[in-house]
Amino acid sequence: MINRFEDAICGCCGRVATGFGYAPRTGQTVLWVCDDPECLQIAKDSYTMKQETFSRLESLAAGKGGDEGGSFLDQIGKGDSPLSSLTPDEWFEFCRRIVAGYRKALIAGLKDEAPF
Ligand SMILES: [Zn+2]
Repeated sequence: MINRFEDAICGCCGRVATGFGYAPRTGQTVLWVCDDPECLQIAKDSYTMKQETFSRLESLAAGKGGDEGGSFLDQIGKGDSPLSSLTPDEWFEFCRRIVAGYRKALIAGLKDEAPF
């Protein structure tokens, strides 16, 4: 069953939910998703995933996000520098890479471990 939107974030990638969610039956908790059709499919496939499995995937994804941020710092030659040495633009790009890496890794993990 697909439901209309309530104010929420995507249960698969963490972006803003934009209008749809999934619940197997009326009255069950809705897993809201963003506008990416892949996230709606992942929501359907992983709806019954245990919280501890999701938490493990989320932790792994956070680590991957950190790796992406670290790679960016290496690319700009500041891998061994304090974060306070980053310019404002470098700081925002560093943060963007972490978040993007997290989202990408979380989606990959959910796809790999979805029970269906
Ligand atoms: Zn999403």
